[in-house]
This record gives sequence, structure tokens and C-alpha cells, in this order.
Amino acid sequence: MDLLSLTAVELSKKIKAKEVTVMEATKAVINQIEKIEDKINSYVTVDKEGALRRAEEVQKLIEEGSLTGPLAGVPVAIKDNMCTKGILTTCSSKILENFYPTYTAQAVLNLEEAGVVIIGKTNMDEFAMGSTTETSAYGPTKNPWNIEHVPGGSSGGSCSAVSANECFFALGSDTGGSIRQPSSFCGVTGIKPTYGTVSRYGLIAYGSSLDQIGPIAKDVTDCAVILETIASYDKKDSTSVAREDYNFTEALVDDVSGMKIGIPKDYFGEGLEEEVKEAVFAAAKELEKKGAIIEEFDLGLVDYAIPAYYVIAAAEASSNLARFDGVKYGYRSEDYNGLHSMYKKTRSEGFGQEVKRRIMLGSFVLSSGYYDAYYLKALRTKALIKQEFDKAFEKYDVILGPAAPTTAPKIGDSLCDPIKMYLGDIYTISVNLAGLPGISIPCGIDSKGLPIGLQLIGDCFKEKNIIRAAYAFEQTRDYISPFDK
Ligand code: GLN
Repeated sequence: MDLLSLTAVELSKKIKAKEVTVMEATKAVINQIEKIEDKINSYVTVDKEGALRRAEEVQKLIEEGSLTGPLAGVPVAIKDNMCTKGILTTCSSKILENFYPTYTAQAVLNLEEAGVVIIGKTNMDEFAMGSTTETSAYGPTKNPWNIEHVPGGSSGGSCSAVSANECFFALGSDTGGSIRQPSSFCGVTGIKPTYGTVSRYGLIAYGSSLDQIGPIAKDVTDCAVILETIASYDKKDSTSVAREDYNFTEALVDDVSGMKIGIPKDYFGEGLEEEVKEAVFAAAKELEKKGAIIEEFDLGLVDYAIPAYYVIAAAEASSNLARFDGVKYGYRSEDYNGLHSMYKKTRSEGFGQEVKRRIMLGSFVLSSGYYDAYYLKALRTKALIKQEFDKAFEKYDVILGPAAPTTAPKIGDSLCDPIKMYLGDIYTISVNLAGLPGISIPCGIDSKGLPIGLQLIGDCFKEKNIIRAAYAFEQTRDYISPFDK
């Protein structure tokens, strides 16, 4: 049996059936990391000792019968913007190079309660700003399918770790596509839940009104199980929602008959690679064969999503990142002259280029005189985009389209042209602006041998629709790992 090719749910079943021990699974993952990390760089921190200790503890709890859930004993990776008590948490920034949180993010606590083993913290774009995982202060992550290409971002380390079997699943965060786009580039499955579903407590904030934590895994079943585990009402997060129904796994049924699926014509214009388009339409055909009713429609306002997002996200980021000043925790410049010089030097030396660009843009759009012209206008646009989706969901259960206009670009190709990089977020960003759930699942491989992702978008609190459609589609193809090539 190839242990590493199991899904999280399959592994946990085998552990409970005493066919494998938690220690064996943990060691298999650590061996894989030791074998390929030099090439891939999925992790900022690998907590080998902590993981081995925890593996023993979890094994005992399983044997005692106090851990029986579907994720018990599974080795996992956590994006490095989620606080983990006593484990270095850097946001892939120099400014947090020495930050050991005193508490753990609620989503991670929920996983721990379910009996997972944390292997380490994954690389990301600095403060989750970027689409390629190249803006990390700890070097870029490489795509396991072809190490000359990026894994996508900002949760690139989490997606490459899942794809390269360096963990059994991972958590990512998605502000404008950072779970769905790298999932699509790495050939794995990722869900961005409805805003408010997973607690943001302990998630280092980027754009607070857009950020959501979500699962990244090998298949839809794992994703549904993980989402069910991490989702919870949390009074420590003022935007947390007490949902009526957390039973996402109920939607794992291979049945889409009568389901109404809309394809926005506006998603298939300029900039979309032909091979991506073909794979996405082929996926729609498969769902149609299974009884779904597919229809094309005009979504509207698609062109306004990117400018609105980059104004709002930058505004919130500039405010959120004001706390990193070298006083309370994190990096402090060694050479300064007085308080203001300390702030200035700490922030100049601690933040990378992309983060500084966002802070400047955000401070500009929030400054008096420009606030109405840019920030308020962007908020109004956001509300109108939500209305467009509301209209669409009066007619459709699910919206189907690509996760990204292209497959993974080559390392170095995106950063030289930030505007082009921002435009690559066209299909994912409006989902965050409207607070909707979205899933990206693999739907093909292009002629360069790189994975293509299909995105399914649901109405607020309708994760079950996208899980059901994704699960039904998944039954029509096998999971392909980069090692199967
Ligand atoms: N690429 C987008 C950005 O740079 C989205 C990032 C994210 O979702 N964290 O803002």
C-alpha cells in the first residue's frame, strides 16, 4: 500500500482499523518532506519533534476510544498566517521572523480537537498578498508538477504540500482567490467557505471583510469533512455566523439531476487560455450528462471586480498592518535613532516590496480627499456586484467557470508585471467581494502537463450545492498526482 497516496479520510480509517499507526503516517510524511523539500519549499517551518510527540499522544487517544472522528491521526499542514501556540508563525514576512504566538487560531484548535497531527507551517505570499508564492521572504515555492512554474498563491505552500504528498491535507486562507487559484495550479481541491463560516480568530488579518480559512485536499470528500470540522460559531470573531447546518458531508452524493448550473459568458472572454476554456466546458458537459441543466447567462459588472477588490483589500491591509511597528513583537531594526526612526526602519526593513505597495495604495485610498472617490466608490461597487450574484442565484443553484484564466505561469513571469498578476484574479475575486462559497477542483491537464481547475460558486450558505456538483463531477475522473506522470 502506498500510504502517501491515501486521502485523509482513507488514512484515518486505516489507523482506526489498526492497519497503520499514526507514527507510521507521520514518519512517511516527514520522509517525503526530507526527500523533496529542497526542490519544492512548501514549508517555512517543519515541526518534526512536535509532530512525532503528538503522533504518539494521538495514537493513545485513538486506542482509548476518545478520538473517533474522520480526521483522527492525520498529519496536516497549516498556512503560516494562522497562529499556532509555540510554533513560529511568520506570514512569510521578515517582520514576523521571530514571532511565537501565545495562542492558536480557532480553526486550528478545531482540527486539533479532531485529533490531527500538525507537521508544520506552509510558505505563502508575504501577508497573503500575491498570486504566486514568490513574494515570501523565505524564497518561492515551486509547483510539484514542474518546478520551473509557480504553485499559485497566496496559499501556494499549502497546495504544493498536498500535491507533493508532504501532508495529507492543509489549511489555506482566501481573500481574493488564495485557496482556489493555487489549488487549480497544483491539481488539488480547495474550498473558500461563505464569509463568517470559519472563525478568523488567530488568522493574521489581510483584508478582514474578505478573509476566510478553508480546506485544501486531494478530493471533495476530504474537503467536506475538513470544512465540517473547522467551521464553528465563535464569539471571538465578531463576523462569525451561527449557521443552522454544518453537515456538509451530507452533500457528498453523486446526483445532480435537475440542478441548475449557470455559466457566465463574461468569464470566457479575452485572456482565457483556449485549453482552460475547453476543459471547463468539457466538465460542464459531464455534469449535463448526469442530469444538470446548463445555461449560459450574462453576469455583469465582471470588469469592476478587480479594481474594487484591490482598493478595498489594500485599504484594509494598510490599516491591519499598522500594528507591525517593532514595539510589541516581531522584528525590530537594530540601528535607529529615536522612536520615529525605529518605526520607519523596522517597517522599511521588515516588509517586502509587494506589501509596501499595498500599504501605500491603501493609505492613499483612505486619505481624506480621496476616501469618497476611491474607497467609498469601491464599497458601492462591491454592493452592486453582490446584487448581480443575487440575481443569478434566483435562477441557478451553482455558477460554473474557470478558477484562473491560465495554468501556472513560470517563476519570475508574474512579478515583473503586477497589474497583469492582479488581472489573473478575475474569476475568484468577486466571490470574496460577495461573501460567497467557491470550490476549485481539477478538471484537466494542459499540453504543458500542468493542471487546470474548475470553479463552482454557490449562493451564501449554500456550500452543499457546490459540494454536490463537485462530488458528482469528481466521480467522472481519477485523481492524478504529479508523481503519476
Ligand atoms: N491575489 C490576491 C491578492 O494578492 C488574492 C490573495 C488572497 O486571496 N490572499 O490580494
